[in-house]
Amino acid sequence: MNINITNKLRKLFGGKPVPLCPTCMYDWRSACHNPERPKAIECEEYKKRF
Ligand code: SF4
Repeated sequence: MNINITNKLRKLFGGKPVPLCPTCMYDWRSACHNPERPKAIECEEYKKRF
């Protein structure tokens, strides 16, 4: 299941969300300028690292 959806479900049911950035392929200063990095909980640009 997509981790963004997993976090939305966790939020809905009172669970603790998981930061997306540690498993994202853009988790580099030069690749991602999102100020929420490295602890983004929801992110439209998230792409799972292989
Ligand atoms: S694209 Fe989103 S999930 Fe990926 S590193 Fe940047 S803020 Fe985090």
